[in-house]
Amino acid sequence: MLNLNEVGKQFGGLVALNNVTFSVDQGEIVSLIGPNGAGKSTLLNVITGFIKPTYGTVQYKEKDITGSEPHRLSKTGIGRTFQIAKIFKQMSVLENVMVGYFPRFKSDIFQGILQTKHARKELNHIRETSYELLKFVGLEKEADVISGNLPYGKIRLVEVARALAGNPELLLLDEPACGLNSSEVLQFIEILRKIQADGKTILLVEHDMRLVMSVSQRLVVLKNGELLAVGLPKEIKENEEVISAYLGK
Ligand code: ADP
Ligand code: MG
Repeated sequence: MLNLNEVGKQFGGLVALNNVTFSVDQGEIVSLIGPNGAGKSTLLNVITGFIKPTYGTVQYKEKDITGSEPHRLSKTGIGRTFQIAKIFKQMSVLENVMVGYFPRFKSDIFQGILQTKHARKELNHIRETSYELLKFVGLEKEADVISGNLPYGKIRLVEVARALAGNPELLLLDEPACGLNSSEVLQFIEILRKIQADGKTILLVEHDMRLVMSVSQRLVVLKNGELLAVGLPKEIKENEEVISAYLGK
């Protein structure tokens, strides 16, 4: 579903990604792990078009999408969340999820402003389906809460629900469990499994090893922009190079 071919990214003299090649198959949960500064967020930014790679190509469903604009990619079925949650703090939780439907909104802007019957009907539909997504992530009770007043752990879930509103086939999550307490992590594991059961593919950047080990079919390990290892969770757990990367040797 997703292929990275010898992807590299330099910021001035800094090599953030160096010749990274791996792929993600349809229906898999693949976790991208590695110490801080390894290049994980940069890689998600390259895949989603926020950053153009210095060299190399990204293919999605066998099409070259290297350097495509983020809004185009969201229409082709790639959804994401950010390491630093990007929510509209003054808007309600429900409205933040509704925003995720925008790329798919069919009524044109004039119909929207004039509140034609068609636009109203579409908006009602979006409101209802957004509420269903809030149920899906367990936030339906908070639907009308102003997002800025939510605890951090729940803000992360609002972002996931909003990404799902775009109905992505491939979902990229950047440290979604960061700041969650251990019962929230367990809930989040269940949410990831449900997303996968819905037929979606997930590339997950995450530090919480319990989460990573329990949901991933495969792991990709980056260190200093280089691919250190790709394999099954149990293989990676026993990989000497990976162990020493994490111990900082
Ligand atoms: P990770 O997500 O694995 O912690 P990042 O992808 O955020 O790592 O960063 C990889 C390296 O690239 C770091 O050294 C970081 O400082 C650098 N970097 C990331 N984004 C930029 C940028 N926009 N400009 C310059 N350097 C950057
Ligand atoms: Mg990061």
